Amino acid sequence: MTRHHNPGSKPKTSYPRIHLMAAAACSAIMVLTLTLLPSPDATATKTVRLKPAFDKATSSPAQLADQVIADAQNADEPLLDDAGVAELAPQRHWLDEKVRSGDTLSHIFKRVGLGSRDVHEVMSGKGDVDQLKKIHPGQVMRFAIEDQKLVALEYVISRTDSLLIEQGEEGYQARMEIKELVPYTSYAEGTINSSLFLAAQKAGLSESMTMELASIFGWDVDFALDIRQGDSFRVIYQELHLDGEKVKDGDILGAQFTNQGQTFTAIRYETSDRGASYFTPEGDSMRKAFLRSPIDFARISSHFNLSRKHPVLHTIRAHKGTDYAASRGTPIKATGDGKVVFAGRKGGYGKVVIIQHGQAYKTLYAHMHNYARGIRSGTRVRQGQVIGYVGSTGLATGPHLHYEFYLNGAVRNPVTVKLPHAEPIAKQDKEAFLALAKQMEGQLSTYAAAMESEKVANLDQ
Ligand SMILES: [Zn+2]
Repeated sequence: MTRHHNPGSKPKTSYPRIHLMAAAACSAIMVLTLTLLPSPDATATKTVRLKPAFDKATSSPAQLADQVIADAQNADEPLLDDAGVAELAPQRHWLDEKVRSGDTLSHIFKRVGLGSRDVHEVMSGKGDVDQLKKIHPGQVMRFAIEDQKLVALEYVISRTDSLLIEQGEEGYQARMEIKELVPYTSYAEGTINSSLFLAAQKAGLSESMTMELASIFGWDVDFALDIRQGDSFRVIYQELHLDGEKVKDGDILGAQFTNQGQTFTAIRYETSDRGASYFTPEGDSMRKAFLRSPIDFARISSHFNLSRKHPVLHTIRAHKGTDYAASRGTPIKATGDGKVVFAGRKGGYGKVVIIQHGQAYKTLYAHMHNYARGIRSGTRVRQGQVIGYVGSTGLATGPHLHYEFYLNGAVRNPVTVKLPHAEPIAKQDKEAFLALAKQMEGQLSTYAAAMESEKVANLDQ
């Protein structure tokens, strides 16, 4: 296998990714898509029956129609009967108008032969007509005009969202139409030569997906310091498609990261009340109860040291925390969920916030320029919530954050203290989670094996 490898050749630059159609009800989504994407000149009514779109008389765009018809046949759905056709509203003739730079609604209405009276009537309609105040150049507005009267207006906000305004018995009525994206499950893997970002790019992952991957494993792996050549990752994730094209990334469903020979596995689990989180296959949280640092990307300017000479007082005075150099105004985050027990001035600390986390833990943030809105004694805060901004109040040589960490009343080095895990999977979810985790781990192995045989096949060519 590797014998076929030519030492002079460059390594393969991109690995094919494996796409799988998700188990979603594709035909239903395709049908919906068609009804929300009217053809340039004619379309079936967008309000009632979806099926009439298949009827040749309504002449939808060919490729869309083909797709839908194929889909409908696959899904074994009967085509429309006469009764269904009878429900169709009269065909509308749509005029497309692109928003130009400097346009107001009146300008656009004028271009399609409508007057300021029509603008006024539309803007006093029911529903979210105010969306029309947010038009910007390049967007498309579609007008259905009958007998010089506006019967419907579609404002295409984005690839997925549009506002449909229709004339009813009591004036215009607006409603949002959101197209459903079709989720595809994908797999990517890579081995790191220099950086995670390069390896991920080579594997076809987007930058945001790579950030997400790093944040899932960031509790166990320091991506700035711990990464070694030969580290690797496998990830099963979703891509959201519209009309056969990727629109954006979905979620990472399961992933593995091997760092210096140690493999970490993360499985996504979502509940309606607690949202989505990543857990180990055993059900422990991937997150820790505390962030390692209250500031992103900050440099440590002074370490925890219980026998340090104080820079301002010039006496031996314990430095009971870690200093992070950062410019004035940099946001400071609560490192864990908890309750503010003090927010005010305290001697050399200047403006300080102290947070109690459960019974055992306490954190302290000093020299703040000011507090974040709503932060006062008694405020409940979430991990990562901004509680204030870097400053130099109290005894400080310049703007920085002084951060202290307490366990059962004893001060600890925040950089080296062993951080407890966040809450594990909830008891009532455990059984379902373990089954999902097992399935996801199986998929990771299956994909990896498929990828391996594909690589071997390529080498043999
Ligand atoms: Zn300090």
